[in-house]
Amino acid sequence: MPHIKSLREFVAELNRIGEIQQIDTEVDWNLEVGAIIRRSYDLRAPAPLFTNLTGYGDSGFRLLGAPGALSGPEHPLARLALAVGLPATASGQEIVEALAGAREKPGIPPVVVHRDAAPCKEHIVIGDDIDLYAFPTPIIHGNDGGRYIQTYGMNIVKTPDGSWTNWSINRMMIAGKDTLACLIPAPQHLGIIRSKWTEIGEPMPIALAIGVEPGLPLVGGMPIPEGADESHYLGALFGEGIELVPAETVDLLVPATAEIIVEGHISIDETVMEGPFNEFPGYNATEASPKQLFRVSAITYRDNAIQPVVAAGPPVEEDHTIIGATSAAEILHQLRGAGLPMASAWYNFEAAVHWLTLAVRGDWHEITGLASHELVDRIARVIFSGKPGVNAPKILLVEDDIDITDLSQVVWAFATRSHPDVDRGEFHFPHRVSDQLAVYLSPEEQHTFMAGKVIYNCLLADLYPQGRRPVKGSFENGWPVEIQRRVLDNWEKYGYR
Ligand code: MN
Repeated sequence: MPHIKSLREFVAELNRIGEIQQIDTEVDWNLEVGAIIRRSYDLRAPAPLFTNLTGYGDSGFRLLGAPGALSGPEHPLARLALAVGLPATASGQEIVEALAGAREKPGIPPVVVHRDAAPCKEHIVIGDDIDLYAFPTPIIHGNDGGRYIQTYGMNIVKTPDGSWTNWSINRMMIAGKDTLACLIPAPQHLGIIRSKWTEIGEPMPIALAIGVEPGLPLVGGMPIPEGADESHYLGALFGEGIELVPAETVDLLVPATAEIIVEGHISIDETVMEGPFNEFPGYNATEASPKQLFRVSAITYRDNAIQPVVAAGPPVEEDHTIIGATSAAEILHQLRGAGLPMASAWYNFEAAVHWLTLAVRGDWHEITGLASHELVDRIARVIFSGKPGVNAPKILLVEDDIDITDLSQVVWAFATRSHPDVDRGEFHFPHRVSDQLAVYLSPEEQHTFMAGKVIYNCLLADLYPQGRRPVKGSFENGWPVEIQRRVLDNWEKYGYR
């Protein structure tokens, strides 16, 4: 698979297919950038590349908005497809299968390159010269509490014994010229590793890599298991190791082509106010609260560095595309690994990563001999026992005559096939590990990361004998082939254009 090894190569490839809008007009990093990105999501317009930010005109620093958003009908998933090494026209199912397929392969560890071959070392700033305000980091949404430098970069940390390195995306806000405020939820891998540092009484070394090669942010949102290195998985996906280089002031390896690397430590006990910041459920945020403090010990960066920016909010933005596609792939991998007859998995982007749609093979009942409630239980056992279930509070289970990437088919299946009765059409699983951002959660649920889950059973195969199942009365299924052909051949003769 072609492997795009830097954000700059990614921008060049997007530009080649008409998916970059370079904006040389002066644009204010204070809210104007964010509003342009939001509108680009709404219009599925090319990704804005801002070259002239208010107060930063001569710096050469740039911002790239909407790096993983949807495009127009010609290649709607181009930004995701190119990031995983597929052609720009790849479908959602093809992207999910590529991601799930790489989970079957042995990991390939990263390759450490010499610092002279690492563009991220073009400029090195340490000590009193560190100034996070040197970059045109935006205030994105109208009520945000500050300038968010980390919306699409990689947080790189490892366990004190060095056995597990984790790459993830968690938002970070600039708190001062050499400090950041970090959201570190306890159940996430970043929080689990941080607790291991807290146990031994040391601040956690961390590197934030901003503007990384396009495959990396995908795994930042992918729920691969605790203890697994995202870099090894990416190596398997691309068939070669990711190029890394040692950081300057912490014992961590960072992506060699990154635009900006911010190094330092997460304080053991200091906190700083963070937020509000709009998030992927799609509502305006109003709350600020104390968060972990990141003390910066070095910044390294490329000439004319590019910062990617995600304006999180209502669908469809990167949280929905990236978390959706990668979580679907991981869940598909785990269900298949449990021997279940899965056809596909997909997060319909419009549902803001709050519902997952699963398709089982049409012959699941014959293969497994299970009733649908038993299949529901098997699926629940796999998904809700681990990390992938965090972002799956609602699951729709259908047969594979439904194209689950087509929302209109999913809605039709749910409405017409799921029985309204509890324990026939819907199955409840109380008190499972949950995300904390859904607006329907109680304060208790948000605080404990525990809440209920539901699976909507839209399966028909165990309700009807074979050959008697309801068949969609579509154009293709409802008329003889010769009539279909006559209608298609004569379509314009009828006066249609
Ligand atoms: Mn992880």
